[in-house]
Amino acid sequence: MGTRIYVLDTTLRDGEQSPGFSMTPDEKLRLALQLEKLGVDIIEAGFPASSPSDLQAVQQVAREIKQATVCAFARATKADIDAAFSAIRYAARPRIQTFIATSPIHMEKKLGLKPDEVVRRAAEGVAYAKSFGVEVQFGLEDCMRSDPAFAARVTQAVVDAGATIINVADTVGYATPKEMFDMIRYLMDHVVAPQGVIFSCHCHDDLGMAMANTMAAIEAGCTQVEGTINGIGERAGNAAVEEIAMMLRTRGDYFQYVSGVNSVELFPTSRCLQSITGVGVQPNKAIVGANAFAHEAGIHQDGMLKDRSTYEIMRPQDVGVPETVLVLGKHSGRRALKDKLERMGYQLIDTELDRLFIRFKELADRKKYVTDEDLEAMLLENYQNIGADLFQLVSFQVVSGSGAVPTATVRISLANNNTKQEAASGFGPIEALFKAIDRAIDFTGEVLDFQVRALTIGSSGAAEVSVRVGWRESSAVGRGVSTDLLEACARAYIGAVNRLVLGIQPRLNVAASDGWMESIFRD
Ligand code: MN
Repeated sequence: MGTRIYVLDTTLRDGEQSPGFSMTPDEKLRLALQLEKLGVDIIEAGFPASSPSDLQAVQQVAREIKQATVCAFARATKADIDAAFSAIRYAARPRIQTFIATSPIHMEKKLGLKPDEVVRRAAEGVAYAKSFGVEVQFGLEDCMRSDPAFAARVTQAVVDAGATIINVADTVGYATPKEMFDMIRYLMDHVVAPQGVIFSCHCHDDLGMAMANTMAAIEAGCTQVEGTINGIGERAGNAAVEEIAMMLRTRGDYFQYVSGVNSVELFPTSRCLQSITGVGVQPNKAIVGANAFAHEAGIHQDGMLKDRSTYEIMRPQDVGVPETVLVLGKHSGRRALKDKLERMGYQLIDTELDRLFIRFKELADRKKYVTDEDLEAMLLENYQNIGADLFQLVSFQVVSGSGAVPTATVRISLANNNTKQEAASGFGPIEALFKAIDRAIDFTGEVLDFQVRALTIGSSGAAEVSVRVGWRESSAVGRGVSTDLLEACARAYIGAVNRLVLGIQPRLNVAASDGWMESIFRD
């Protein structure tokens, strides 16, 4: 056994705050539960002072997570720390990470503070957080552009004030591995901590160095590393948790370090995040990309056939890549579906199963076989619609072709059980369809992103559509699955609008008043 490296996952904080990755409290909780299954040691669940919805999200995560530590992020101010504590106070293992910038450029230009004042505020912030009786981590923001002697002075002050984890942040992704190594060593050599302190690193990928810098920090003696799933995060993102975990595991011969990550959950966790945000990873993404285990070149394939270890340093099953298997057909029953889902790792409650079974039958009727991938896509569609089914697609018809004006007619069921039919034309059939839906539900959304993915190869394949719909400051992703591309589009669009309404007005009692659309969309 080697040295234990603790993994702090900040997908829900650093990852979530980057454009296109915002999540509702329920989505954050769903990802947090998957992160706990993955075995990360600490889940940084959010920045409670940033918004009431984030405070609620962190609270929800703190209540449900039992194994991992739940951490809340806070500037070194009383108000931020109060919000952080109120969010994590009921966690089984609560932690507050408070931080302040230590580089000359941040202190002068951003904070407008003299170095002495920065030291004082850092120590006061830590002491205040510590007064709540929780574990306190202190982050040196932009540490890698700071004077090492000053960074050590701040670190000594916060350690004396009670911080037990020191996070060295390369906030702007500027450092080289050697600089990272030297900074960690310098702090370790110059800070006196009789009660012991854990050093941590937080690396960004602006120059493609996040992973290399993280490994350098570990070699220097950091026993906590911060990262995100799929490497999402501010700008170019953070070090990717799946890469850190597989690096430690695959090169255990060299590094002698171990993490608590259960590697077979890496791929499912990556997919979970992709399904929530609607943002995929590039095919060549390390560990979780579609091509990460594909061997195309003839010479490689020849080697693989003789002995897989010639070109394969990790096996797809080690990271939980599912094998593509043709599974169910239209004669398969509810029981078979349930069994199959359980073997895939999904436990559904009866109402969820009922709902999925209807969709499964619809798909199986049109398609010869339903694969694992089809089922997963339908499950995601199903998850995304739970609690957000104000509007549902009843029927639709689209007329399109060369020389014709693309026209769509839709019938939508509304929350009050009425249905409404509307028609619209557009430059193309999908635009016509979205406009018809807008008319039926008295809404004008803006399509911010639109993606189509083929679920299975071949003419009977189903398509998965994800659409991000924006309205004023808010946006939400919806997903639709069907053998009919236009139907998938309609389902995805309606799904997004449902979630958008729910996000804007979470406790909306739709039965309560007739003019509810007015009150949400018109004020
Ligand atoms: Mn960051």
